[in-house]
Amino acid sequence: MPELPEVESVRRRLAPVLEGRVFETVRIADPRLTRPLDPLEVAHELDGERVALVDRRGKYLIVRFESGRALLVHLRMTGSFLTSTDGTPLPDDAHRRAVVTLDDGSAVAYRDVRRFGTWLLLEPDEVDTYVDARVGREPLATAYRAKHLAERLAGRRAPVKAAILDQRTVAGVGNIYADEALWRARIHPLTPAEKVDAEEVQALYKGIRESLRAGIRRQGSTLRDYRLPDGTEGGAQHEFKVYGRGGEPCDRCGTPIDKIRVAGRGTWFCPTCQRLDGRQAARSSSSRPSRSRSRNSA
Ligand SMILES: [Zn+2]
Repeated sequence: MPELPEVESVRRRLAPVLEGRVFETVRIADPRLTRPLDPLEVAHELDGERVALVDRRGKYLIVRFESGRALLVHLRMTGSFLTSTDGTPLPDDAHRRAVVTLDDGSAVAYRDVRRFGTWLLLEPDEVDTYVDARVGREPLATAYRAKHLAERLAGRRAPVKAAILDQRTVAGVGNIYADEALWRARIHPLTPAEKVDAEEVQALYKGIRESLRAGIRRQGSTLRDYRLPDGTEGGAQHEFKVYGRGGEPCDRCGTPIDKIRVAGRGTWFCPTCQRLDGRQAARSSSSRPSRSRSRNSA
């Protein structure tokens, strides 16, 4: 599933295509994309909107229009964009869900195999309230500090990994970059969030930022479906320290990487570098996010 580095890489490719352009025709072929709203109605509302900025918050792509409205896109499992700026027709298949034609003749298609992705058109006064209720601070913002992370971990008995998967703890970190960040910080994923001490919070803060930056540098990770808007794959999967590397030697100490389940998710870590050190593991099952939370944090 796309996380912050993947969504940010998509944003960087979409921005030069969309910014300053007008949505001339919008075709939405899948009612699931816009439900509960009628896709025809949403498409009609989008017609004629001029894009001011392609923005991102956490895993949300935000197409901000000059009118103040915004189209909030969540790629969920398998959503992806494909652009054509030179008049080449975009390939069509059964998984195409929407196509936008711009006033300069460029086209942007949205494809989604699993159909969990969403397009939500928000009015000017709704945008920030909607996003801020679901998404915590941006970890790569210059104003983001370790103390902000400490505040969000304090008093939580859940495993630290479950806590950082919660999108309100820190925006945009999902299963991959949570494992990568915990390895960098040498913290066992089952450590109760409230037992992560000040020094470890500092290390985790750095670990989150470094692993997200590493992901962005390689334009995200393609494990299955993720593609950039020009159809190419990301390369971050070639540099993972632990994610998906069960049995392979740890880069730091050579111990085989181990795999467990935390909050219902496959979790990779180094049993030598990431120890519980006498602390009792948080009970993973009790920390499973509630239905409504898991929807928000997906
Ligand atoms: Zn190790």
